[in-house]
Amino acid sequence: MQGRIIKSLAGFYYVEADGQVFQTRARGNFRKKGQTPYVGDFVDFSAEDNSEGYILKIHDRKNSLVRPPIVNIDQAVVIMSAKEPEFNANLLDRFLVLLEHKFIRPVIYISKLDLLDSIAEMEIIADQYRRIGYDFVLSQKELLPLLKDQVTVFMGQTGVGKSTLLNTIAPELALETGEISDSLGRGRHTTRAVSFYDVYDGKIADTPGFSSLDYEVKTIEDLSEDFPEIRKASHFCKFRSCSHTHEPGCGVKLALEKGDIWQSRYDNYLQFLSEIENRRETYTKTIKRK
Ligand code: ZN
Repeated sequence: MQGRIIKSLAGFYYVEADGQVFQTRARGNFRKKGQTPYVGDFVDFSAEDNSEGYILKIHDRKNSLVRPPIVNIDQAVVIMSAKEPEFNANLLDRFLVLLEHKFIRPVIYISKLDLLDSIAEMEIIADQYRRIGYDFVLSQKELLPLLKDQVTVFMGQTGVGKSTLLNTIAPELALETGEISDSLGRGRHTTRAVSFYDVYDGKIADTPGFSSLDYEVKTIEDLSEDFPEIRKASHFCKFRSCSHTHEPGCGVKLALEKGDIWQSRYDNYLQFLSEIENRRETYTKTIKRK
């Protein structure tokens, strides 16, 4: 049979297939191959009855996240607050680059709009991101229909109101997340269930920390691939290896001049690019010293 792992707990994998859930285990041969089944995996499995089946094969994954380990994610809701903490386009672009890199569709959600005197400025920012092709939502009402038929994760820095949002749309998940942050015990992670939750005709999972985010962006090789509007404009660059910084005949610089690429996005592209270059230099120096 074929199905999808929707929950893992204490060595058991719960596989959803044909509207039923089967309790399965992974055979020892996965361990030998260094493979671990994760929540989100599409699998072949055997199940004589519902009590215990075996996973036979794990299908190729389109992407994966490490903490918690979940795979084959369709989209991520990036929660950014309008105020407290202040909206931060640089941080947002970091999230977007990382998600593009992992082939996870970003949905941008702005919280705490009620703290603003006027949302005029936020509307301008929203327009810029919508022009790139991103969903940029300013209310829960706009967000909910986007969850249908998708596997969604939620991410955002501390204080943006992630638990408030999850509390409303997935109380079960919010509870789980709260328990973890209250316990302070890192060891608890090992026994914690990883699970998808059914909400609004879709499935959601939480994504707590993104501490490695900075590092990941700093190591992304083809940065221009992860800025959709830069990727598009780069087809008109004279040189194939154009970095869109100083080269003549650059399609990206042209699009920037015409206002087709937003200055803020281009500035962040330049900043991430220099971070990658600095990292490479540090790395080369370390190698030479050895
Ligand atoms: Zn260029």
